Amino acid sequence: MSVRTRLAPSPTGDPHVGTAFVALINYLFAKRNGGQFILRIEDTDRARSTPESERAILEALQWLGLHWDEGPDVGGPHGPYRQSDRLSFYTRYADELLAAGHAFKCFCTADRLDAVRMEQRQLRQPPGYDGHCLTLRSTEAAELEAAGTPYVVRLKVPREGSVAVQDLLRGEIVFEWRTVDMQVLVKSDGWPTYHLANVVDDHLMGITHVMRGEEWISSAPKHALLYQYFGWKMPALAHLPLLRNPDKSKLSKRKNPTGILFYQRMGYLPEALLNFLGLLAVPPLEGEEIMDLPTMVGRFVPEHISVGGPVFDVPKLDWLNGRYLREKLDAAQFGERVRDWALNKEYLGKIAPLAQSRIERLSALGPLLAFFFAGRVDVDVAQLRAGKLDDAELKAGFTQALERFEALPEWNVAAIDGTIRAIADVMGKKVRDLVRPFYVAITGRAQSVPLYDSIVILGRDIVRERLRYALEVLGRAK
Ligand code: GLU
Repeated sequence: MSVRTRLAPSPTGDPHVGTAFVALINYLFAKRNGGQFILRIEDTDRARSTPESERAILEALQWLGLHWDEGPDVGGPHGPYRQSDRLSFYTRYADELLAAGHAFKCFCTADRLDAVRMEQRQLRQPPGYDGHCLTLRSTEAAELEAAGTPYVVRLKVPREGSVAVQDLLRGEIVFEWRTVDMQVLVKSDGWPTYHLANVVDDHLMGITHVMRGEEWISSAPKHALLYQYFGWKMPALAHLPLLRNPDKSKLSKRKNPTGILFYQRMGYLPEALLNFLGLLAVPPLEGEEIMDLPTMVGRFVPEHISVGGPVFDVPKLDWLNGRYLREKLDAAQFGERVRDWALNKEYLGKIAPLAQSRIERLSALGPLLAFFFAGRVDVDVAQLRAGKLDDAELKAGFTQALERFEALPEWNVAAIDGTIRAIADVMGKKVRDLVRPFYVAITGRAQSVPLYDSIVILGRDIVRERLRYALEVLGRAK
């Protein structure tokens, strides 16, 4: 049987470099074995999934050059490849589990579940569903349902014994059943949870190897049980280590930019970023660290991945990217890359109009728009302080913006405008007084082209980085 791997991202935010790493491993393993690499969008979290995020994920993976054989955009024989388009499958399989007695309807209210949780905390017991609705007689359940009582469908989990799951990187992992929660499989609105949809799809899509982040290890026993209940063969499993900061803490955007598209915007070459991620899993041959994708495919063996936590070391990425720029491109290719990066029609088409009404000579464009071609910008603390806000207020304003920008479901001028207004409101400041230091932090100057449009065009990651830098500058200043 041909090897089939998949990347199954949830479109709930900016595509993360950790997703790129997982995608690369799945790609390498599939191609190394002459198999297929599939992209499936797991958008069953309706509150958090957005089409904007889905588009960004596809764009980021395309930019990296990790082409998938089947997916939401290219189709394939096992489609659809977006879970929100597959709801009827999940209903059918949930019904099958219910009919066989492997799952049950749970009518417990949120209040009851809260009370159970509280009691468990007091008794220092592990949190989890207490099995209350398992004891309902079928007539009682039918009555509740007929009365329109909302319910979820839960997985029936044995309370005794244990299960052993094989992991390609970690060997056997044993889970005691009593530590495994009776997972919700279908929510009260009829939508499946990740667990049900993921198992059903991996099976229907013929996935042979599931290689995913280690944060999913605790899901493995639930999935193993589902495969057993359905009578399906479980794919081989490998839980990949999470990328880490150099201090070994989990890579998070609080410390380091984590968005794939940030690295694109910063001017890293996709092949350098892939090579960099590949070095975390494929040892270099005779010390030569430059490897293109086919070379990595040829050398990839999952056992080489160290579970210790590969370090996302930006200086190393810089070094590698520099080598690619100098050694791998001739002058013409380099020129093309520069054009593709930010001197392309699309980007210029977005930024030039912002300057049109503000200049008298085209040569003024350079200084005015330079911040669109930069990573960080120089922030002069005197400029930050030149307005009406004191240091504590500046810090509060930037910190709030960092948090609120993060939480915005959509990234557009209206959303940015609303956020800045809300912050001004909370702080009791005029919008005008708040906007000024934002100009300095984002564009490097107290005045520039329209701020909100600039923020939208620069993108969340660069904006985050610049706000963080402004906070750093303020923190250092006396
Ligand atoms: N949708 C999950 C995620 O966002 C997929 C986990 C898996 O690969 O099973 O990471």
